[in-house]
Amino acid sequence: MAEFISLYSGSSGNCSVVRSGGAYLLVDMGKGVRVTTGALREAGLDASDCRGILVTHEHSDHVKGLGTFLKRHPLPVYGAGPTLAALEAAGLLPAACPICLLDPDRGEEADVAGFGVRAFPTSHDVPCVGYRITTPDGKTMAIATDLGTLTPAVHAALDGCDLVALESNYDPYMLHNGPYPYYLRARIEGPRGHLSNDECSEKLLELVQGGCEKFALCHLSQENNTPPLALQTVFTTFGAGGVVPGRDCIVQTQRRSEVSPTLEF
Ligand SMILES: [Zn+2]
Ligand SMILES: [Zn+2]
Repeated sequence: MAEFISLYSGSSGNCSVVRSGGAYLLVDMGKGVRVTTGALREAGLDASDCRGILVTHEHSDHVKGLGTFLKRHPLPVYGAGPTLAALEAAGLLPAACPICLLDPDRGEEADVAGFGVRAFPTSHDVPCVGYRITTPDGKTMAIATDLGTLTPAVHAALDGCDLVALESNYDPYMLHNGPYPYYLRARIEGPRGHLSNDECSEKLLELVQGGCEKFALCHLSQENNTPPLALQTVFTTFGAGGVVPGRDCIVQTQRRSEVSPTLEF
């Protein structure tokens, strides 16, 4: 059995756990070390069971707590070249931490304590990756946040997974009628920004029709989205496709500032 646990998720910080047996990997760490350590404890996880940290990109909502956490727990850090270089330049990678480069374009799989880890590129305004992870017991999941559009590489990475954690960042109506200035709106809905509820839900329908049954909606915007709205968009799209959540699959929005319920896959 494998588990996906979001410790916190959204524009104010992202950190999630992929766990199997006694060991787990962390993806990103976008809040401070005190908050993250508290969330790990609440999820019943010991830092000594973490086998590595996978970083998606250099934005602070993904790396804010990383430097201090790594000073306390010198774990291996995985990421793409430009991201690791940016973290290094920002002084977030203590010398004691093994640095492991993953090339998102070559699609090679790294063995991280029995977890098969592959990075894939996402379309964002800085170099950014998602991860496809095969757990030691043979389950597969993918996580993709911070992507303006679904590229062929993302489609391929999400295909055939047991669980998919995908960004459902904004509701287009809220974005257009909210407080954001034009340039920020254009950035969010542009091809190198974020994924809307509609784009996410259409992809989820395709995935559920392909056999995936567990979905985590991640990185919801605080200003331009609400959990009920993101969920409703998925349910409406699924309804039109004859898919019944609860019967055919489980869809869960991930909480902004709290540990979300564990999703088994
Ligand atoms: Zn982000
Ligand atoms: Zn970002």
